[in-house]
Amino acid sequence: MRIDLSIKPLAYTHKVLGAIEAGGTKFVCGIGTGPDDLRTRQFPTSTPEITLAAVIDFFRQERSGNLDAIGIGSFGPVDLDPASANYGRITSTPKVGWQDFDLAGTVQRALDVPVNFDTDVNAAVLGEARWGAARGLDDAIYLTIGTGIGGGVLAHGRVVHGLLHPEIGHLHLPHDKSRDPFEGICPYHGDCFEGLACGPALQARWGQPALTLPPEHPAWELEAHYLGLAVMNLTVTLSPRRIILGGGVMQQPHLFDLLRKEFARIMNGYIRREEVLHQLDFYIQPPGLGSRAGVLGALVLAEQIREVASVESKLLKDRKA
Ligand code: ADP
Ligand code: ZN
Repeated sequence: MRIDLSIKPLAYTHKVLGAIEAGGTKFVCGIGTGPDDLRTRQFPTSTPEITLAAVIDFFRQERSGNLDAIGIGSFGPVDLDPASANYGRITSTPKVGWQDFDLAGTVQRALDVPVNFDTDVNAAVLGEARWGAARGLDDAIYLTIGTGIGGGVLAHGRVVHGLLHPEIGHLHLPHDKSRDPFEGICPYHGDCFEGLACGPALQARWGQPALTLPPEHPAWELEAHYLGLAVMNLTVTLSPRRIILGGGVMQQPHLFDLLRKEFARIMNGYIRREEVLHQLDFYIQPPGLGSRAGVLGALVLAEQIREVASVESKLLKDRKA
């Protein structure tokens, strides 16, 4: 479907930002400045060539001349090291055609704007800290429990990178095989967190899609147990002020209460902070931005690179003067 180019809202006569949430099943593209004016469009993820052609066409049709910067939150693993020759690439994905694809470079060259690149979950935690359930917090974690499990970490107001970036889905949790003999489905580790608790793991263990498991099914107590262990481990290692859980599996509202109870049981009163003793409804929350956390977070990434680019251009001007 083509955009009607005759419609040009006044709000877009000033410069705006672009956002891309690059997912394994769909790409969500957005243009705007925040939750109130963000306009999005989705494209199914097929080959990199077909998908990127649609994405680039969207930005060119809509606003190319007026875009200040683009932020990309991508499925991974990705290379985030600016000093690396592979910066901006998706690295070891099993997704056919996407391995080593230069996502940030392709967008940057096609649209000729500054591009900021990060993981989808680091983007989501930035979005939630700016406008959502972690608003105003400098230390928070965003977990997605969906086709896979991933986590983004905000510490001291910055998303965590390092050797790579956090790969929270591959935490190793105690696995009591007498309670849960299921071997897990992670191709690398079998029974890591993702291998035991992502949507497809639920389906493989119980023989039916997670979506169809009724609330009283024992699947949910076990799921809450693994989530509780993971949230416990994250609390004691990274000391976040809030943990947000999104993704398809968390669409089960009763799962949040089961998780809070299980977390409290495992924590056993050890950390004496109100947040984890009596305010678990705040400490463990669904995303305030719902399914828009990732794309809005990508907008925050765009904002950050615009800031850097404007400082750089000012420095350059000062040097010339
Ligand atoms: P993705 O991780 O691919 O971006 P989702 O976050 O929607 O996509 O996660 C998809 C997974 O979530 C699937 O395994 C699906 O079975 C599961 N899922 C989707 N909706 C629900 C639901 N309402 N309840 C439980 N599981 C769900
Ligand atoms: Zn694993």
